Amino acid sequence: MSTETIHKPRAAFHGTADSETVLECRDVSRTFLVGKGLFSEKKTLKAVQNVSLKVRRGEVVAVVGESGCGKTTLAKMLLGLLQPSSGNIFIEGNPITDVTIRQIARRVQPVFQDPYSSLNPRKTLESIISLPLKVHDIGDRESRQKRVEEILAMVELPKRLIHSYPSQLSGGQRQRVAIARALVMKPEILVCDEPTSALDVSVQAHILNLLQDLRDELNLTYVFISHNLAVVEHLADTVAVMYLGRLIEYGPKEDIFRNPKHPYTKALLDSFLTPDPTKDVPEIALGRGFPNPLDPPTGCAFHPRCASVMDMCSKVRPEQTEVDGIKLECHLYPQPSKAQAAE
Ligand code: SF4
Repeated sequence: MSTETIHKPRAAFHGTADSETVLECRDVSRTFLVGKGLFSEKKTLKAVQNVSLKVRRGEVVAVVGESGCGKTTLAKMLLGLLQPSSGNIFIEGNPITDVTIRQIARRVQPVFQDPYSSLNPRKTLESIISLPLKVHDIGDRESRQKRVEEILAMVELPKRLIHSYPSQLSGGQRQRVAIARALVMKPEILVCDEPTSALDVSVQAHILNLLQDLRDELNLTYVFISHNLAVVEHLADTVAVMYLGRLIEYGPKEDIFRNPKHPYTKALLDSFLTPDPTKDVPEIALGRGFPNPLDPPTGCAFHPRCASVMDMCSKVRPEQTEVDGIKLECHLYPQPSKAQAAE
């Protein structure tokens, strides 16, 4: 048993990034080889392409887009569960490739979409929530139980549930347990992948309010993966819109919600007032359906669905440019010069 207690400060990282940036993606791509059988030709799926973004301490960055846009692959890379094919991810200035998965887990923790499948049905809440402490050999049984009780109070679950099983809880209570398990290691960053989409609408607001309160109390940083723009509007500081693996618009939430620039973001916001927020992004305003990621359109991948498409859009992929502090990939806006693009 380690002599380390749960109150011991975390081992220091020795990053060189500015202290405000806790997480950074630099030109990150991830590809997969996809093929059915021994004799069928394998194809390359470009799940994430050249994504660069910075997450500052205490910030909520929402990554939005339709199913298949690459947001979950990006989340897995931020958690160290997948390696980028190229580019790099930095946690407090440290390349993720230089730190172990255990070190990453002390700073970055996940909250997944489905609390039904992410909790072991044969374990009690005490066992589920204290497992990360056990894995990291932190504390003894007594101190771990005390920490579990503290965390249960933090996520507003009664202490008497400590010996209950997930099957005895409601969906909202299970998601609170998943959040408790993520917080038990005192991480700085939570990567939340659609954390409310499996819950009843009536419960979603409670979980969102809890995440907001925890962020304020613990100065947490969130990367929030969501297709639900109502949720994003409620929680995010910064919005990153993804389409077929690319970051196509990225900037402050107020600016993007008030004055979206990219035609895809405009279409997403047009479909925002969906009658059922648990449904995926509806097709209205987007015309043709989401393209096959294994056979993406040429040029700007959004061109078959774009209301503002021009001749060049199917031939030339737009470079990232910046307009009024918003990063964009669209030919409607001045494209960067070669020197700017190379920066
Ligand atoms: Fe539409 Fe062309 Fe802009 Fe793509 S580059 S979003 S097709 S206008």
